[in-house]
Amino acid sequence: MRTITHWIGGKPTPGTSTRIGQVWNPATGEQQAEVVLGGAEDVRAAVHAAASAFETWSQSSLSQRTKVLFAFRELVNARTQDLAELVSDEHGKVISDARGEVQRGLEVIEFACGIPTLLKGDYSDQVSTGVDVFSFRQPLGVCAGITPFNFPAMVPMWMHPVAIACGNTFVLKPSERDPSASMLVAELWAAAGLPDGVFNVVHGDKEAVDALLDDAGVAAVSFVGSTPIARYIHERGTANGKRVQALGGAKNHAVVLPDAPIDFASDHLVAAAFGSAGERCMAISAAVAVGDAADELVAAVSEKARAVKVGPGRDSDSEMGPVVTAAARDRIVGLIGSGAAQGATLAVDGRGLSVSGYENGFFVGPTVIDDVRPNMDVYREEIFGPVLSVVRADSVDAAIALVNANPYGNGTAIFTSSGEAARRFQRDVNVGMIGINVPIPVPMAYYSFGGWKDSLFGDKHIHGPEGVSFYTRAKVVTSRWPHVTSRSEGGASIDTAASGASYHFPTAT
Ligand code: NAD
Repeated sequence: MRTITHWIGGKPTPGTSTRIGQVWNPATGEQQAEVVLGGAEDVRAAVHAAASAFETWSQSSLSQRTKVLFAFRELVNARTQDLAELVSDEHGKVISDARGEVQRGLEVIEFACGIPTLLKGDYSDQVSTGVDVFSFRQPLGVCAGITPFNFPAMVPMWMHPVAIACGNTFVLKPSERDPSASMLVAELWAAAGLPDGVFNVVHGDKEAVDALLDDAGVAAVSFVGSTPIARYIHERGTANGKRVQALGGAKNHAVVLPDAPIDFASDHLVAAAFGSAGERCMAISAAVAVGDAADELVAAVSEKARAVKVGPGRDSDSEMGPVVTAAARDRIVGLIGSGAAQGATLAVDGRGLSVSGYENGFFVGPTVIDDVRPNMDVYREEIFGPVLSVVRADSVDAAIALVNANPYGNGTAIFTSSGEAARRFQRDVNVGMIGINVPIPVPMAYYSFGGWKDSLFGDKHIHGPEGVSFYTRAKVVTSRWPHVTSRSEGGASIDTAASGASYHFPTAT
């Protein structure tokens, strides 16, 4: 059995903890590797390595840093297929989808390659007579990233390229369910010329996370995962004086108006609900069908859901793979059952799907649940599986009210031909990322990614300009170089300058 170790100080490290986690192949249902689960001592070693590396990396020039970033970009690009295969084998998603996630991660690396421009400060000449003011930003120190299973390559890349480009060092605690992609990423950073200790990986679960949150050597924590854990990370990290951004779960609604082309909308809804088996924080899990749109929409979506090709992620014919673990499958199947029990209509029931040759895999088929009401568990819970709930609403305003009553505020979309309705929607919904006839509106790397309400704790969104701001702190310098005159007195040289000092609070002159 292959053992996945930590990566500390530039090399694979077994660590001291004896705890081990199982890594499954979700398509076959078999264990394929074991991963070491780090404890406080392993976290201490990684933070120590990162803290010593910070002493030199934080002093490296922008040219030195960008040289490494450009090399890293080339290596990740060249190894996209290898990364995608590692992701697919441990997560279960189809290879084309895994390649897509690596591509979106690469875009953040490319954004970080522009760090010299992003870190340019401000300069105000002559704010007072003979006085200038300028600002610049400096790195924080050791930054930690704690990431979820559903994007094992992309979500960490939302963090470490930006943090490292800003001059910080990094300790990544990836999901223990699909840890291998992070190890290849560590090798690629090293091959790109990143000094040892700047990027470290500690595997583990709550024990390693708590050690990171409590370690005085960690300056900032970026977290992406479920809402209860995000809230906990934010509370414990900030109580320990750290800067924390904690992105949580989601329940993304797509509102479909009667004037939307139903074929177009249903194609996109099916892809957004069942792509990656619904295990995306930006997946559409609730369709809000307004007025007359409902019957036609449910019929179209159901027909397309039945046609989705479900199979192992490695099979190029598969459009949707298994879910990540047996426990995830059982939870999703249970929630589908609760929908039927609480009075919803199972238009398409994905329970009991068996994939030939992969009978032990963790598969759930695409599921469409109609006549869902907000008090049902399928609506209230983040199912995180291939389940689309359809809620019916009378008007655009009722649809917007539904979106806003939901505790989550990650992403949402509207399908319509009306610019007026779309504009009203974009202004009135309390959601961070909005799509207009675009079901999964994940912002490009040069914008920032983040939700509202229970989808984000902290004030900075991730990557893009807010990422640079999160990973740096500002200095503002007020400077004066007085004109000095020298005179000779008794053989000694005496320097004087007009002082103009006064006892009132400084004001510009
Ligand atoms: P999770 O919250 O279970 O785990 C996330 C990380 O937290 C992992 O590294 C895990 O080891 C750690 N963790 C788990 N339990 C912990 C505990 N009790 N104490 C401390 N640390 C703990 O999430 P997941 O199941 O891996 O990922 C799916 C969730 O992530 C979904 O809710 C999804 O919506 C969310 N997500 C959100 C975004 C976003 O951008 N908002 C992006 C991707 C995923």
